[in-house]
Order: sequence, then C-alpha cells, then structure tokens
Amino acid sequence: MSKIIAIANQKGGVGKTTTAVNLGACLSTLGRKVLIVDIDAQGNTTSGIGINKADVEYCIYDILINEIHPKKAIVDTGLPNLKLIPATIQLAGAEIELVPTISREVRLKKALAMVRNEFDYILIDCPPSLGILTINSLTASDSVIIPIQCEYYALEGLSQLLNTIRLVQKHLNTSLQIEGVLLTMFDARTNLGIQVIEEVKKYFQQKVYQTVIPRNVRLSEAPSHGQSIITYDPKSKGAEVYLELAKEVITYEQAAR
Ligand code: ADP
Ligand code: MG
Repeated sequence: MSKIIAIANQKGGVGKTTTAVNLGACLSTLGRKVLIVDIDAQGNTTSGIGINKADVEYCIYDILINEIHPKKAIVDTGLPNLKLIPATIQLAGAEIELVPTISREVRLKKALAMVRNEFDYILIDCPPSLGILTINSLTASDSVIIPIQCEYYALEGLSQLLNTIRLVQKHLNTSLQIEGVLLTMFDARTNLGIQVIEEVKKYFQQKVYQTVIPRNVRLSEAPSHGQSIITYDPKSKGAEVYLELAKEVITYEQAAR
C-alpha cells in the first residue's frame, strides 16, 4: 500500500522543502521506496536534492499542463530508493494556465495514480500559497503534514490552511486526513519556542509529532551541496531528528493498519 502525503503550509520559510527532502531521504534510508514531487515553481526541492534544473527534460509542469505520462518526468537522485519529479520555473505559469482547463483540480491525482503502486511513500512539496497547485496536491493526497515554525505568529494563517483542507475534504477528496503537525526550527535557548510548542499542542493535540525539528546549521547548508542531510552529514543533529521523524511516520502507518 502506498501513501501520498502533501507537505503544506501557505507560509513560506516554515520548513516544507527541508522536510520533503530530508523526510524523503530518511524514509528511503529505512528501506522504503520514495517519490518526492516538487510542485513549487522555485524548485528548491529539485536543486536541493542535487538535480540541475537546466538539465531537466520533463517536469511537473508537463504532467499538469501537457498531460505527459508521469514516468517520463521521474528522475533518479543520489539515493537508490529515492526518486523525484522535478519542478522548474516553467511551473510559474501553471497557476494561470490551469484556470480554464477541465478537471483542473484533479490533474495531479490522476497522474500519481499511474505511478503510486511503485512507491511506498509519495511526498508532495507544496508551494507557499493556497492556489490551484496546493489544491491539486491536497486532492491527490491521502494526508497532509503541516510544518509549523516555532516562531512568533506560528499559528497565524493556519485557519486559512485548515479551511482549505476542509473545502478539499468536502468537494474533492473526502478521505484527506491530517497526517501530522511538525514543529520546525525550534530553538531551545528561547522561551518562545517552548510557548509555541504548548500552543500548537493545545490546538492540534495528538496530531503533533513527538519529534521536534531544532534549528540546525547543517540542515540549512545541505541544499547548497545538492544533498539531503543523510548524505551531507549523517552524524548531525539534523539527520538524527529527520530519521526519528521518518520512524514516527512509519509507526503511525503501521498502527493504522
Ligand atoms: P519552505 O519550503 O516552507 O519555504 P524551507 O524548507 O525552504 O521552507 O526552509 C526555509 C529556510 O530555512 C531554508 O533556507 C532552509 O535551509 C532553512 N531551514 C529549514 N529548516 C531548518 C532547520 N531545522 N534548521 C536550520 N535551518 C532550516
Ligand atoms: Mg519550499
């Protein structure tokens, strides 16, 4: 059984891409077959995983707009069990180009249905908006991981995200669930971080992952080397916590069966 998980929050800079790349890499290290789908025109996941965007032949744009077979766009990464559907700046136009098209919300769902059996996990790295690309992602997914940065105003904007999730559940994907809420960029030296954790736990209760991702310089350095934390610095705190998160994700799935 494969599982499709969107990593979504319309706020930028909360750790969506870092989580997509490193959770994906860690799940693959634990022996799972993983596909990461980059659906953000910035293509940070694509470059962060070591793919040169200039060399990309087909990207997620071709899947959504030109309806090519998704297999054509899947590329290898440095890790054997980890594949990627890349995004390039071409995707920037998709938001507008999709507006007049038929079944525009279900394009990604239809495409991933053609390949999902080949993977244990498909992680979709969403853009920082609640537009048609995020709607496609939520429609295509079994569940959603919401990364929340341990910062002031952490919960701001979350009601919009939850509202979008509810609308998708109502109209497009009745089985969509919240997989988990992930606290990111925690700084143990400040009281603020602890307050944010308490606030988020009050709100989301048992949906909050026990694993909290701390600020870790190695995590922010890895993308510029085109590597996940697992290959860039496997002994770092960043690698340790994302491995912990991967185990948590697997445990919840096994418990749900
Ligand atoms: P998003 O995809 O939500 O916009 P990113 O994952 O790109 O967020 O993270 C935003 C920035 O913060 C990036 O420069 C990233 O390298 C950095 N970053 C993310 N998580 C951490 C972390 N745990 N520790 C340190 N830096 C981080
Ligand atoms: Mg991102």
